Amino acid sequence: MTAYVFAPPAQASAAVLDTDQRFPVRRIYCVGRNYAAHAREMGADPSREAPFFFTKPADALVQSGSEIPYPSATGALHHEVELVIAIGGAGEGLSPAQADGLIWGWAVGVDLTRRDLQNAAKSKGHPWDSGKGFDRAAPLGPITPKSRLARPDGRIRLSIDGDLRQDGRLSDMIWNPYEIVAEASKLWRLAPGDLIFTGTPEGVGPIERSQRVLAEIDGLVPLRFAVI
Ligand code: MN
Repeated sequence: MTAYVFAPPAQASAAVLDTDQRFPVRRIYCVGRNYAAHAREMGADPSREAPFFFTKPADALVQSGSEIPYPSATGALHHEVELVIAIGGAGEGLSPAQADGLIWGWAVGVDLTRRDLQNAAKSKGHPWDSGKGFDRAAPLGPITPKSRLARPDGRIRLSIDGDLRQDGRLSDMIWNPYEIVAEASKLWRLAPGDLIFTGTPEGVGPIERSQRVLAEIDGLVPLRFAVI
């Protein structure tokens, strides 16, 4: 048995639909632009160039029902509702057809963003970590196993205090989930416990203190949280 100089951190994990067993989380990957209308609202050209990825720390996960303190060092906390792929197998250099075998399930996530810090980083050519990888930046709803839902389809929505802010369709994704897993597997060896946030539709915007967020994808368990 390994001895540590202090107690190791708790294993990051996510809830799973209809069970007390949790999904242990290893890494969180995120796709930058994956819906044409959102790419345009961010001032980018939504041509079908290869998807790009950034990461969040696994311990940035927040489970549904939480209250999230407004993060430090920002005046522009933004929401991005996203379909999240939960990886249950290992592989690298996969084709989209092979990628399906790695997918364990699906969840609703919100890629919380300190937009002012992200924009400053973009303009200076700096990394995005402070804008994307901060504490509690990854609220995630319970994972629905693929055995219960082969592939989500339909609408992806986010509302704040009952007011609809994002309303897209998963069919508008530039890269579908299998293509995203395949592309990620060219860059990293994927392993059980990895999560991939797959990009957001248009309508991103600020969340203020005391507001309640509801994120929904047809067929999946909704994600709820409040910013305090
Ligand atoms: Mn995003």
